[in-house]
Amino acid sequence: MPSAPRSTTGASSPASLRRTSRVQPPEFPVIYAADLVLPVGTPPVERGAVVVDRDGRIAGVGPVEEISRANAGVEVREFRGCTIIPGGINAHAHLGFRRGDEPPGGSFAGWLSVLIERLPEKEAWTEEAARNSAREALETGTTYIAESSPYGECLKPLAESGLAGVVFAEFFPHEIGPPEEAVEYIFNRTRELKRGLPERVSVEVSVHSPYTVDPESSRLAARRSREAGERLAIHLSESPEEVEFVQKGTGGLANIFARNEWGGAGVSPVKYAERIELLGPGTIAAHLATGVSDEDLEILARTGTAAAHCPRSNEYLGCGVSPVPRMLERRIPVGMGTDGLWSSPSMNLFEETLTAVQKHGFGGETGLRLATLGGAEALRMQDEIGSITPGKWADLAVVEAGGGGEPSREVLEAAADGGVVATVVGGRLLYSR
Ligand SMILES: [Zn+2]
Repeated sequence: MPSAPRSTTGASSPASLRRTSRVQPPEFPVIYAADLVLPVGTPPVERGAVVVDRDGRIAGVGPVEEISRANAGVEVREFRGCTIIPGGINAHAHLGFRRGDEPPGGSFAGWLSVLIERLPEKEAWTEEAARNSAREALETGTTYIAESSPYGECLKPLAESGLAGVVFAEFFPHEIGPPEEAVEYIFNRTRELKRGLPERVSVEVSVHSPYTVDPESSRLAARRSREAGERLAIHLSESPEEVEFVQKGTGGLANIFARNEWGGAGVSPVKYAERIELLGPGTIAAHLATGVSDEDLEILARTGTAAAHCPRSNEYLGCGVSPVPRMLERRIPVGMGTDGLWSSPSMNLFEETLTAVQKHGFGGETGLRLATLGGAEALRMQDEIGSITPGKWADLAVVEAGGGGEPSREVLEAAADGGVVATVVGGRLLYSR
């Protein structure tokens, strides 16, 4: 029998999710208008408007006069002095951490060992932290979150927040049993968690990392995710300690659970991940911040693996800088991720993105794309979200920015600095300042 996994607080019963899932209010159709609309992927629209249909999807985008004329009688909600952009897509986050008592940074292995020590204490407040993190994300213009948590423990707070998203349920085989049993356990659990969810919330599986999940469990889980047509979230090539563990089997991560004896593969984490079948279309690898060579980038591109870039977390934990410009050259899908509040100062995805823009010398347009359509592509959701395009969900952020200078840069800076005045998810105004 598997031992009871340690972190299952916050696990939601289907009934409680059904009670709290939201009913579409009779407020559609509706038109949102502002000084400027930046749809991402198509040209900006001055004095622009977005019309939302009865299902909460975008029915049209264009000049406000045109949109109003074509939709006579539909209510117009006008935001003066503002710019409408697609909502932020957080491609890698952990909701269940709180601000103010994070373990010291500087060393990844040191930080992680304190985190593991504090897991029992953390159980008491994980759910509250997750509610607050989700709220903070919503109030800073995020509309979709890819969350990773042990056994999917943050699903209920995410589902109740009104945000769209996926929870990637992590599993730790040393807490459960041999590979087949561990993988069976986590897929059974996600099957249970899927019952009664809001339409735009899903649960899939994460293989946490090369140093916490053994190769056979990783391989079996990845195969099963692919067979189910689901995505797979992993942490990969994050820290110098991970590179050392995978290469040589030594260093600060060799004994993180006292059981991980499978290190020393003699290759880079990316090569190792390919060898154990973790990489492929649908896999989203977070961080890729340390020891990523050109050969590794070639592997990521060839396998169709996507990346989630978390520059503030990487900096806090002494993990180096992810080679994002070279990823983009090779057309590797890249989205932005905040990680969680124990390694990052905020859940504001646009603040995270502005850090990337400054670090890599990107223009505002590249930055805005990374925060929106880039995240959608990394999560293989570009047909549903990521730009203001008819047919996609009406997921929008309204930012106090007038469109002067370089509008994308200006809107990014404003959103990073608390300038989001409203957030719309599936056409519904979920936050208004
Ligand atoms: Zn992470």
